[in-house]
Amino acid sequence: MKPRVNLVCTECGYVFPSDAGRNSCEKCGGILEYVWDEEYLKSVEFTGELKFWRYKPVLPPVKRQVSLGEGGTPLQEAQRLAETLGLKHLALKDETRNPTNSFKDRSASLIVSDASGKGFGSLICATNGNHGASVAAYSAKADVACHLIVPKAMDIGKLAQMMVYNAEIVESGETIEEAIEKAKVLEREMGWYQATTELNPLSMEGLKTISYEMVEQGGDPGWLFVAMGSGVTISSLWKGFKELQSMGRVKHLPRLVGVQAEGCSPIVSAFAAGSDELKPIERGETEASAIRVSKPIFGELALRAIRESNGLAASVSDEDMLTAGREIAKLEGIFAESASAATVASLNHLIKSGVIDRADRVTCLITSSGLKTDDILQSLTKRRRSPGLGSMLTTKEKILRHISGGTTYGYEVWKAIGKGMTIGAVYQHIADLEERGLISSSVRGKRRYYEITERGKRILSAMDELQVLF
Ligand SMILES: [Zn+2]
Repeated sequence: MKPRVNLVCTECGYVFPSDAGRNSCEKCGGILEYVWDEEYLKSVEFTGELKFWRYKPVLPPVKRQVSLGEGGTPLQEAQRLAETLGLKHLALKDETRNPTNSFKDRSASLIVSDASGKGFGSLICATNGNHGASVAAYSAKADVACHLIVPKAMDIGKLAQMMVYNAEIVESGETIEEAIEKAKVLEREMGWYQATTELNPLSMEGLKTISYEMVEQGGDPGWLFVAMGSGVTISSLWKGFKELQSMGRVKHLPRLVGVQAEGCSPIVSAFAAGSDELKPIERGETEASAIRVSKPIFGELALRAIRESNGLAASVSDEDMLTAGREIAKLEGIFAESASAATVASLNHLIKSGVIDRADRVTCLITSSGLKTDDILQSLTKRRRSPGLGSMLTTKEKILRHISGGTTYGYEVWKAIGKGMTIGAVYQHIADLEERGLISSSVRGKRRYYEITERGKRILSAMDELQVLF
């Protein structure tokens, strides 16, 4: 059967042909969504290995495929993390394993395929980070000129990807919303292909394949935790599950939990107020840049998806995201960005408050790699300097730096830096430093004198370099 699909306005229901090449509804300005014919969906067969393009029969047709091997990411059993949380069953869908280490490779592959197949030589894309890095990579592969509009605060790892994939990058304003406005203008003035997530209905089609894969990999996700910025991810996943239901491929739909950052949670606020309408916030405050969206364009679709699934929306603090991120890495070997770790942070709260039962099945979507973001690297250095283990280190470092200034003795070291400590504690640190070969001592008269060793000097200069790095 030939694919039967239309573009439908999510606001007013107006129907356009699927090849209309439109970004929004000409009647009301609403977001457009591809809607597949149910009979067609029932006739669909998937062939080939478990990768993104396996789902070609449920993707709007493109004339050329631009692929870097995206999709087919593992659905990992997370047993150690589950035990720590007190859960029986937890799985992580690890989207960091995509070509640019982010789930956005799915939508970027489809969008750049469409642009290239339609003969566009240039595209324009406003981005918070991951989507732009991804579109830049696929544009490079397809030999399409990639123009990115980014807000000023951009994670350095994502910026590095955009640059190395040879995109042309223009900084514009403080927020993603300002960047989107600029991308609309450039599309109109330059006649470039519009690749912005919020302005291209192919985004949802690309991202929905995550649901298709999860069902083929393990069946029932149970509670499905998804981080929300613009709301596109959770809306796309729900669309995927609804299609799978029409095809008769799922028995149980998941219950969705949409997670936002406390400092930027307009969708969670609307959910809590029982409202269908979103109140945009003035300015989102969170270090998790991937979900720092104050006017979520897909917010109402996200709310609809959460309510239909009998799910819920919750927010978590930046600190909890960082802690959860370290746990995921430490226990499961997956380095997630904070926005992705927000899912596990929220899961932890909902187990403690009894909303989620310890016997429930749970799946968390890990969207992107932490190696691309600034907040985690910064928190690692802060941790080195924080109280607890860190303060021991700082005291030793201080003593070592003092001794590196010239030969000295214990009582003098204590007077110089031992305020608030017993002289015994200072001597203990000195003994540790000597045992590790960072200082050496010699007895002259009644006193023992200390001086720094070559090894001690090397350690200090390595510490200085670390500080430059972070
Ligand atoms: Zn409309």
